[in-house]
Amino acid sequence: MIINKNTELEAIKKTISKCEKCSLHLTRNNVVPGEGNVDSPLVFIGEGPGADEDSSGRPFVGRAGKLLDKMLKDWAGINRNDIYISNIVKCRPPKNRVPTDDEMKSCIQYLESQMLVIKPKVIVTLGATSMSYFTNKKKISESRGKFYDWYGNIKTFVTFHPSYLLRNHSMEKGSPRWYSYMDMRAIGVMFRALQKGKNINEVVSAINSRMKESGGI
Ligand code: SF4
Repeated sequence: MIINKNTELEAIKKTISKCEKCSLHLTRNNVVPGEGNVDSPLVFIGEGPGADEDSSGRPFVGRAGKLLDKMLKDWAGINRNDIYISNIVKCRPPKNRVPTDDEMKSCIQYLESQMLVIKPKVIVTLGATSMSYFTNKKKISESRGKFYDWYGNIKTFVTFHPSYLLRNHSMEKGSPRWYSYMDMRAIGVMFRALQKGKNINEVVSAINSRMKESGGI
């Protein structure tokens, strides 16, 4: 049977739009299920919607989202429409606090269902919450710029959340922004290689060598 990804994702979105599994439904204006190219080899996952996302129902449209768009375009050479973007929780935590473990547990089945439909080659985790869920790692400064295994053949690649970079402007070598630049350049290389159908393990190996040689890790 041929699976239509858009149909399956629409069904998941419909379920999310009515979800009341955790208390975040009480304060949300809109659910923010995710959007983008469902055939992309890369999916980007952040923590949760902020105020702009809650108002619009779209992920990464506020200041951090605009920075992400710019980093993708200028550093990775990727158009935002070429990738899929979502979050660990689909409703805004009040005052943009970190989602609780219970909220994440309640919501994660939606993200997992989305990933099973999209079947990306690499999930790029944005920030500590997403990193922690996908990799069990605790320190982003030690874990970023590296690949980890998730389910099946899906890899994860850890980098900073753009909202963290809004508070860190220095591009000095070794700064969070400089490391993000290195990560985004690597992400651009992996995107183009995977789009051409290159083997994921070969891509991982090439990126790892590149990061070591360039001082990115
Ligand atoms: S955050 Fe997730 S689990 Fe909680 S109400 Fe929203 S969609 Fe449901």
